[in-house]
Amino acid sequence: MFEHTELFSRTVGETTDIVQKEMYTFQDKAGRDLTLRPEGTAPVVRAFLEHGLDSGALPRKLFYLGPMFRYEKPQAGRYREFVQYGVEVLGSRSPYSDVEVILLSVRIAEELGLKGTSLFINTIGCPVCRKKHKEDLIKHLSEKASALCLDCQNRLEKNPLRVMDCKNPACRVITAGAPSIHDYLCPDCKDHWDTLKSILASMGLEYSVDPALVRGLDYYTNTVFELKWPPLGAQDTIIGGGRYDRLVEELGGKPLPGVGFAMGLERLLLAAEKGEKPIDPHVRADCFVVTPDSEDKEVSREIAIRGFQLVKDFRSLGLSCDFDPLRRSIKAQMKHANRLNARYVVILGEEELKKNAVAIRSMEHGWQKEVALGLVLGFMKEELSGGSN
Ligand code: ATP
Ligand code: MG
Repeated sequence: MFEHTELFSRTVGETTDIVQKEMYTFQDKAGRDLTLRPEGTAPVVRAFLEHGLDSGALPRKLFYLGPMFRYEKPQAGRYREFVQYGVEVLGSRSPYSDVEVILLSVRIAEELGLKGTSLFINTIGCPVCRKKHKEDLIKHLSEKASALCLDCQNRLEKNPLRVMDCKNPACRVITAGAPSIHDYLCPDCKDHWDTLKSILASMGLEYSVDPALVRGLDYYTNTVFELKWPPLGAQDTIIGGGRYDRLVEELGGKPLPGVGFAMGLERLLLAAEKGEKPIDPHVRADCFVVTPDSEDKEVSREIAIRGFQLVKDFRSLGLSCDFDPLRRSIKAQMKHANRLNARYVVILGEEELKKNAVAIRSMEHGWQKEVALGLVLGFMKEELSGGSN
């Protein structure tokens, strides 16, 4: 959840918004500089090296899921604590890996019922091709420096590419006419970029090239991409990612390229609510065991025990199963089963106990069957694995 502050200042970059404005940094009791992690890639690479994963089979594919923290102005889709899911492929510079990662992000959006996402891609080259570009960019921006926002005036010399990322309208006007990295790509980067685009096209993926897309982290090289879902409004980027071929080396490993993405789950949920497959917020239990009381105390106790055994056995099978520990009326128990959206209700009453059986009711299809107690586990397993569904 937290890392040495240096991990982020060195990799995400001193001149980025994340490091300059958005980090929750503090000292622990021993005076160490720590930061609540604002992103997942640098920590993943840190752990990757710390645990020697770089000596295993490559490429290595990893994922993470967990809270991130950024000191931002909270608004719809932007929070100070949020959850990111991310993937990283380490050990491949092939553009096929870039596309593999992009395809996964697009598929996640599709599976969530988000039609009409737009994929934006760009390349930001490597330090070799960026060198000349940087010089020309500084020249271009310096001529209009006084019109840039204060942050950008500071970034100008150290990291002019960051200026391209600024959302300030005045800066946008100036960056619109700035020299494009596309005119400076070295043969290697150009080849990577052209191949990437041709693979994307062969996979039938529609995309737009956005030359202004540089992303807010310094460790990126070559490919950067974002997946947007316009119905979300102002914060419509649901997934962002890119290639980071120098990060492993920068953190002390041998040179090892990487590519990955991160997506914000809250934004994804906001989107899913408006999409074509709204997520059902109701818990769905596989079965609910109903154990009506009997007038005879002994019988009643027997029913409770047998019913509870069934719950335990269903759970051991991996089914989500519940029951009413308060043993309210049969009507109340059925109501509870309904509230849990149970697919099946298993009734064990006095009648059933006498016959050493249970009554199983499918709440979806409305039928009810009597099944011998000894066969009930097999029956439910069969039903839930798709038997009659
Ligand atoms: P933005 O331009 O929206 O600030 P970013 O470039 O800062 O995004 P990344 O660092 O690329 O975001 O993070 C990847 C994803 O994480 C974003 O696309 C978004 O879904 C999510 N995300 C980023 N910051 C926040 C936040 N403060 N609250 C909720 N989700 C966030
Ligand atoms: Mg941001």
